[in-house]
Parts: sequence; structure tokens; C-alpha cells
Amino acid sequence: MISGFVSQVVGQTPLIKVKSLSDLTGCEILGKAEYMNPGGSIKDRAALGIIEQAEKDGLLKPGFTIIEGTAGNTGIGLATIAPQKGYRCVIVMPNNQAQEKYDTLNALGVELVTVPPVPFANENHFYHTAKRLASERPNSFWANQFENVANFKAHEATTGPEIWNQTEGRIDAFVSAVGTGGTMAGVSRYLKSKKPSVHVRLADPFGSGLYSYFKSGQMASTGSSITEGIGIMRVTANFKEAVIDEAVQVSDSDMISMLYHLAKNDGLLVGTSAALNLYAAYRYALENKNSGKVIVTMLCDSATRYQSKIFNPAFLNEKNLSPQPLN
Ligand code: PMP
Repeated sequence: MISGFVSQVVGQTPLIKVKSLSDLTGCEILGKAEYMNPGGSIKDRAALGIIEQAEKDGLLKPGFTIIEGTAGNTGIGLATIAPQKGYRCVIVMPNNQAQEKYDTLNALGVELVTVPPVPFANENHFYHTAKRLASERPNSFWANQFENVANFKAHEATTGPEIWNQTEGRIDAFVSAVGTGGTMAGVSRYLKSKKPSVHVRLADPFGSGLYSYFKSGQMASTGSSITEGIGIMRVTANFKEAVIDEAVQVSDSDMISMLYHLAKNDGLLVGTSAALNLYAAYRYALENKNSGKVIVTMLCDSATRYQSKIFNPAFLNEKNLSPQPLN
């Protein structure tokens, strides 16, 4: 089949067996290669789902401008789909993200607005800035990936069923970090509807409040993380829909060790959230060593999207990170 639109090749990503981790644990650890989406990340699915729902609802028409606040990937997803549909994009991002994402958005021709990385309560936060810009500009549509449930519904309709079919229903556990919660909610709901025994595990970076929220009901965080696009300090409409059995925290040092391990041993170049996901999947596999359990996680984007940071010894030094053999 020849696809006439970028939007037609979002999803249907391969499910890759991570051989080194499967061999080390006696489980089957599988990564869904979301970096193979046209915009290079898992967020293409949410971007397409949000656009198509807004078109159906009459909120988005040719000539309109899509406005969104994002750590970058949702903006890239929107901007890859927008041109062929006749939309422009205004993308609002915090100014501390990997340079590669700004460069990509500029190449895609969006209007890029950067703001300081301030707490959510501050009105200059990228979320509030995007909302404000959308209210000021005529013929604009605020994608609002955090509260717009078209986000998780895209994962419930595509990511979940793909994982179910690719594992032929053999999946025992699903592990995922949370940014908006769209992936976690959509996939967990779908998998639990097919097989309630599937164990769902939230992998949270330091600096995020979700681990504490899951354990105690209190949104609280310690530390910080170099991961991008994951971790949050509030319960979003998308996250609310997630069905979660357990939560774990993963440090940046374990995440970066995994990232380098995967590059050297498996030829897998994954981004920071994917490395964090795989570290949590690996720990779950060690807890169930030699059980043969089938564990699925998301390879959200590629290492190349962060190479100016994670393959830069000066950056790693500054953050006190040095990749170690897996423990
Ligand atoms: N990983 C990366 C690299 C991301 O950009 C995002 C989205 N912000 C996520 C993971 C989390 O996905 P979700 O928004 O579906 O929770």
C-alpha cells in the first residue's frame, strides 16, 4: 500500500524482543518501537487522535492554527500531521529541553514559543501559556493533551490492541512511565479488559509526584531527573483513567546505565523515558526471574532526539552521571 498522508503511517509499530535483558532475566522483555512513528515518538498517536476528534467535533477546520504546550514530542507529532491537513502550529515549550526538539520543530515550520521551566502554579507555565495564546488567537484550537481524553482514547484504540495482537494475548505485564497519562490509561484499560490478570506497573522518575500519589494518595516528589516528557505533579483527566497495580521509582543513574547497555548490547538507541521504562521492566523481570513472563514496555522515542545531552560527556559529568554495568 502507498500512503498519501503522513497520518496514515502513525502506529503499527514493531514489538521488539530485547534479547540481552530477556537472556539476563529468563523473561521475555518486549519494547514497542514508537520511535518508528513519522514524528519519531509515541506522541504521534495522541496528536493524530486529538486532531481527528477535533475535526469530528467541528473545532478544527482547514486554515486553523493548532496551539499546544508540550515538552516537544506532542508538538512534533502535531507539526508532522498539520501541513497536509492545512493547519499551522504554535508550539509552546519550556526552554530546558534537548536542542534537537527545538531544531526539529523549527524545521517543521512551526511558530515556536519558549517559556521558563516554572511550576504549574505559575501562569507562565507552558500549559497556561498555550491556553492563553489559544484564547487570544481567532481560528485556533488548543490541543490540550493533558485534559483532552482523545489522547488516551487513541492509545486504547491502537496501542493496546496492537500489543495484544502482537503478543497473541500472552502478555503478563505492562510497564510505562507517565507524562500526560495517555499511554498508561489507554493501554492499561485495553489490556485489563482483555485479561484482568495483566500486571500494570507505573515507572516514575524522581521529581515526579505520581509514585508518592500511588503509594500514599499524596502528590509529593523528591529530587529531579534529566528525563524529558515524563513525570507530573497533578492528576490529569487522562491519568485518571489508568488502571495501575504497582508503582516504582527509577533513578537517572539506573536509567542512563540502561540506555548505554541497550545501545552496546542490543543496538537499540532509545531515549531517556524508554530507557527508564526498560529499567523498570528489567527490575520486574528480576523479581520474576526465569518465569518466562512476557513483559511489554514502550520505546517512546530515540536516543538521537537527546544526543547533545546523553552522548555528551560534559553534560553527563555536570549531572554526575556515568553509565555502569546493569545491577
Ligand atoms: N516519553 C516521552 C519521550 C514523551 O515525550 C512522553 C509524552 N510527554 C511520554 C513518554 C509519556 O507519554 P504520555 O503523555 O502518553 O504519558
